[in-house]
Amino acid sequence: MIPFIDLEKQQRQIRTSIEAGIKRVLDHGHYIMGPEVAELEEKLCQFCGASHCITCASGSDALLMALMAWEVGPQDAVFVPAFTFFATAEMAALLGATPVFVDIDANTFNMNPACLREAIERILKEGRIKPKAVIPVDLFGQPADYHAILPICHEYRLQCLEDAAQAFGGSHDGIKTCNLGCDASATSFFPAKPLGCYGDGGAIFTNDTNLAEKLRSIRIHGKGTDKYDNIRLGINGRLDTIQAAILLAKLEIFTEELKLRAIVASWYNDALQGIPDLVPPVLAPGNFSSWAQYSILVHPEKRDFLASALFKSGIPTNIYYPKPLPLLQAFAALSQHPSSFPASVNASKRVLALPFHPYLTQEAINKIAAVIRSLLA
Ligand SMILES: *Cc1c(COP(=O)(O)O)cnc(C)c1O
Repeated sequence: MIPFIDLEKQQRQIRTSIEAGIKRVLDHGHYIMGPEVAELEEKLCQFCGASHCITCASGSDALLMALMAWEVGPQDAVFVPAFTFFATAEMAALLGATPVFVDIDANTFNMNPACLREAIERILKEGRIKPKAVIPVDLFGQPADYHAILPICHEYRLQCLEDAAQAFGGSHDGIKTCNLGCDASATSFFPAKPLGCYGDGGAIFTNDTNLAEKLRSIRIHGKGTDKYDNIRLGINGRLDTIQAAILLAKLEIFTEELKLRAIVASWYNDALQGIPDLVPPVLAPGNFSSWAQYSILVHPEKRDFLASALFKSGIPTNIYYPKPLPLLQAFAALSQHPSSFPASVNASKRVLALPFHPYLTQEAINKIAAVIRSLLA
């Protein structure tokens, strides 16, 4: 079986520095907010170019904390893509806000700016809740269309929170995700993300000093200058020192891994040319993807057959995501209809993610492509 993601090959390269990093933490014993956390925050800022980094316990907490800092609540509408991971909308709903689902662009799978404007106008016209924030997602590692989305956010005075959980290391016109002009950006260090730790982790980035200070307070139960002088409600949202040490070791090879990911994607693109009913992933001009997933589109009636036949040939696949968010039972109370987001429904019926990691060989890719070609021919 070809691994869907190969974290072992990566570990073999950096095992010594990971063990040394963990040993340092065991020796100094600062398991909570130890020196590795501050060092990592500084290095992540250097990497992506943002002024402030607030590491936290997960990508979900990163989204939650930013929304908490903006005091998002029951009167608010938060605009999210209809096609993404659940947490993007879940965090807004947890705070009592209403997630308003926006259809995606059929090629990039990212939030469609024209649909965003329509949704904002509709909410304003209905007048029940107040447009407050937009959470574009950089799905599968590719930045959303911020050239179009940010002016809309400014026009309607909405906060823009980039969900870069899958896209740390991606860029647009040479500018890295988490520094593309949004008010705040959230990322995740879940093990399977492009930059993953060995547990849960995440980070928020911003260029706004006041917001950064507020987020540092929210991360530790709304602390004031003193830990026991709580000035607001917060959460226990800290990143473990051991995870920071692991991320510092992984960051050393991350730029090289991003290059390898781009090469692996181009091998796939070449090998999958001209297969009937198969569309390889499309990047918008100027975009560099961190390739969290390599998702092809296939004919909806052939997807199940293809997935099970590939599995039998030792090639695992996954479906991200089998249902648009508004059709999930958790959001049933919002009574959303599939006709409101046709591109999301279409993508959910056709996407199929192929094995992907930086250490995949061209030989393995050619084999995978040959099996797919023989199954779809
Ligand atoms: C993974 C992911 C999250 C959540 O990150 P966790 O670290 O698992 O909490 C949020 N949004 C998107 C788009 C994701 O892929």
